[in-house]
Amino acid sequence: MSGFEQDYIKEAFDTNWIAPIGKNIDYFEQEISQFVGTSGAVALSSGTAAIHLALKLLNVGRGDLVFCSSLTFVASANPILYQGAEPVFIDSEPITWNLSPQALEQAFHYFEKEGKLPKAVIVVNLYGQSADMSKILDICNHYNVPVIEDAAESLGATYKGKASGTFGKYGIYSFNGNKIITTSGGGMLVSEDLEALERVRYWATQARDPARYYQHSRIGFNYRLSNVLAGIGRGQLRVINERVNARRNVFDIYNNELSSLDGIEFMSEAAFGRSSRWLTALTINPKKTSVKAEQVLDALESENIEGRPVWKPLHLQPLFKKNLYFPHSPEGSVSDQLFQSGICLPSGSNLTVEEISRVVDCIKEVFHEC
Ligand SMILES: *Cc1c(COP(=O)(O)O)cnc(C)c1O
Repeated sequence: MSGFEQDYIKEAFDTNWIAPIGKNIDYFEQEISQFVGTSGAVALSSGTAAIHLALKLLNVGRGDLVFCSSLTFVASANPILYQGAEPVFIDSEPITWNLSPQALEQAFHYFEKEGKLPKAVIVVNLYGQSADMSKILDICNHYNVPVIEDAAESLGATYKGKASGTFGKYGIYSFNGNKIITTSGGGMLVSEDLEALERVRYWATQARDPARYYQHSRIGFNYRLSNVLAGIGRGQLRVINERVNARRNVFDIYNNELSSLDGIEFMSEAAFGRSSRWLTALTINPKKTSVKAEQVLDALESENIEGRPVWKPLHLQPLFKKNLYFPHSPEGSVSDQLFQSGICLPSGSNLTVEEISRVVDCIKEVFHEC
């Protein structure tokens, strides 16, 4: 927490607006849309809810196809299933680990021949870094298919000088407890289309018709953020730039200390953008060392340090075993390799230099023993 949150929460308590309505919500929406540079924003109960309603805005329904990055958290794709549609997974490219334009083209070619194009493409910006949006948008615009940008992990990052999450028709952010700023739980949908955002507000509050009594003509959801949590978000947003700098600083220390070890390769930062380095992620190249990612995670765990493998790609999940997958190239799948050799290090913006040193020392020891 930044310390500013209490003032906004107090305001909610003092005015007795402990509901999914109130000043903090209105201001939080304005402040996010100002920060990222969109016409508007709608505060929701989670990033997952935001993806769900973005799909609904695009009329994704039963039997429709939606392309989605494979290397991501399951929340990127679950809403496709909520809508009864069918996800098709797209591999990563090796530079940013994000959606491969090459694989995306393959998928479009395949389904063009089948005579069935997707209703939407969900592009994920992994671990704080933007995907190569110009290339991806060129392809999607060619087929006239709209993009939803899952920027849950990349709030505060930029692509070609503009905020990550503002390139698709709809962008979504998450304020879950582990994200770069948090409301303990929450999300935001951003867009240039204010009329669409109004529809989202309506759906997110049980689709209540404008009448004195409770009248409903359509299915609604209970997806609005509370005014108390929006207050936390406002306090957090005030320090977003410091949080990004802190995370980048954590990355720099790991990079300086560990990149000389044979086989360690940090997730690179493409020249087209500035990553928030939400998580510091690296791979261990099996051609250069006998150390395995698993060994490093075990060593960290024995020191009570939590490291994690990178996301298990969605095309490898039992939940999606029937869904199609398009790899980056015929030589192999990039996301499979990243999953096998990748780990995420402790990356919190409140880590001290001493804490980072403990992680560094532990990893160095594993490499020196091998
Ligand atoms: C966290 C996350 C989400 C989901 O956000 P919630 O607010 O937890 O629902 C979606 N996509 C990605 C890539 C995420 O990391």
